[in-house]
Amino acid sequence: MSKNYEVVIGLEVHVQLNTKSKIFCSCPTSFGDEPNINTCPVCLGLPGALPVMNKEAVKKAVMFGKAVNAKINKISTFERKNYFYPDLPKGYQISQFVVPIVENGEIILDNGKKIGITRAHLEEDAGKNIHEGDVSKVDLNRAGTPLLEIVSEPDMRSSDEAIEYLKKLHAIVKYLGISDANMQEGSFRCDANVSVRPKGQKEFGTRVEIKNLNSFRFIKQAIEYEVERHIEAYEYDEYEDEVIQETRLFDTKSGETKSMRGKEESADYRYFPEPDLLPLEVPDEFFGIEIPELPNEKKKRYMEEYKLKEYDAGVLTAEPELAEFFEKMIELGVEPHAANRWLAIELLGRLNKAGINIKNSPVTPDKLSLIAIREKEAVISGAGGKKVLDLLMEEEIEVDAAIEKLGLKQVSDEGAIEKMVDEVLERNSDKVAEYKSGKEKLFGFFVGQVMKASKGKANPQIVNKILKEKLK
Ligand SMILES: [Zn+2]
Repeated sequence: MSKNYEVVIGLEVHVQLNTKSKIFCSCPTSFGDEPNINTCPVCLGLPGALPVMNKEAVKKAVMFGKAVNAKINKISTFERKNYFYPDLPKGYQISQFVVPIVENGEIILDNGKKIGITRAHLEEDAGKNIHEGDVSKVDLNRAGTPLLEIVSEPDMRSSDEAIEYLKKLHAIVKYLGISDANMQEGSFRCDANVSVRPKGQKEFGTRVEIKNLNSFRFIKQAIEYEVERHIEAYEYDEYEDEVIQETRLFDTKSGETKSMRGKEESADYRYFPEPDLLPLEVPDEFFGIEIPELPNEKKKRYMEEYKLKEYDAGVLTAEPELAEFFEKMIELGVEPHAANRWLAIELLGRLNKAGINIKNSPVTPDKLSLIAIREKEAVISGAGGKKVLDLLMEEEIEVDAAIEKLGLKQVSDEGAIEKMVDEVLERNSDKVAEYKSGKEKLFGFFVGQVMKASKGKANPQIVNKILKEKLK
């Protein structure tokens, strides 16, 4: 990317709230059911049906507002956003336009930079169009699922900042437990507003919106493609013609963005107050609601309490399931650095390679902790522990049974080790003489010989200890 240009990015994220029922009716919000069974006159938009506000959705929006240090409006309003699309049965979407429930929040990046959150508002999701060959079908199971739309300030200056912001937002939502935030299923999806301006120019460049991005990798690719496109247009003096205000779609196969339609302005939606809903009043008890420890705080605590490095603490707190796993290991008596090593490096490495999420790990916190404990007790070596872990990834077996099966039990019997040490020293009397005359580097040689004699099973600490005594 050329250093003569500045990138400006703002993001809109749609988060599906994990309430049991839809936002304005009692239909279930479950994913993957038979098409159109989770519907009623309200979410089908039949005449005369009246929406009723789901209190759980309000509570979850308030929790989010607290988590990002935002202002929570006691009173907010619902408006109708009018547009026509086959998956929108009413011909309008009930959304919050004039006064959103949440305003003026922030997300703090690792380098301390604050990314402003302009607003977060409640609205209903649309259904889904399904295209099969020449036939298009509409599934309205999703219509009326509660959404929290989180709109950032145009504060991000690179795709890396955008991804960091999104990952932090994703983690916060999961820590709060207000959404499963499953990107593949569309419960956490992002629209990116991207513009580029020559360095030093005050006015923003022309803004392009890239719609419906549902993986961090695609978001990064789409933003970078778009930035390059804008810079090239500047360089070839074609900016006015090539970069117009519009909505674009990212084609995951070609890695390019393509024009979808001209961007609507809010005037195009002819917003007007929703006459069937009273203004939303947040119940007083919601203002005092407690929220769980959030990733940034947790990371800071891990660094202070467990003396973990910033990078390690960041990895362990990136997902609540991972932090939970780590904390269980600590509870079971594993020392923090050992827990970090066994979890973040050994287990996560194996899970990533196998494409398994930590949630579905075949190795439980109990089992991983026992490997770390057996290592600490010197029943097995570190290398032995890794072999046990490999086996646990493959089959349902207890840790001690795996140690037995793999024959990894270390020899810690001092008498047996002493005998091996004596034999090694006797066989190498010349080297013992050299050692005693000052060639201390030979110590490692003796350790190696004893380990070899024990077929790698002698406890190295005990070997060291006995060798030191004998060579004094
Ligand atoms: Zn319904």
